[in-house]
Amino acid sequence: MLTLKCPYCDVQAEETELHAGGEAHLTRHGPDSSDDSFESYLFTRENPKGVHFERWRHSHGCGKWFHAARCTMTMEVFGTYPAQTTKPPQAILDAITAKRPGWTWRELS
Ligand SMILES: [Zn+2]
Repeated sequence: MLTLKCPYCDVQAEETELHAGGEAHLTRHGPDSSDDSFESYLFTRENPKGVHFERWRHSHGCGKWFHAARCTMTMEVFGTYPAQTTKPPQAILDAITAKRPGWTWRELS
């Protein structure tokens, strides 16, 4: 079973205590954006076989949203962090590159 540590209340929560919220770090473009960028925001998602950044809500706990970095193949969790960030903390990026040499963070557009 997947367990994630809530960065707010410091509880190691089981998947049944959480609610998945899809991909993290999506950029919502403003009202002057093109139809293509809005369509991309609504429908285009990564579906990697490997490292993925996701949104989760501690729905049966503090109720707050947070981000998690994990591997979709091995279920290995590299870390969790508050959702009010535009980029994962450097410590999490370092933990990923330590186990996945050559892996690099890619900003979403
Ligand atoms: Zn919590």
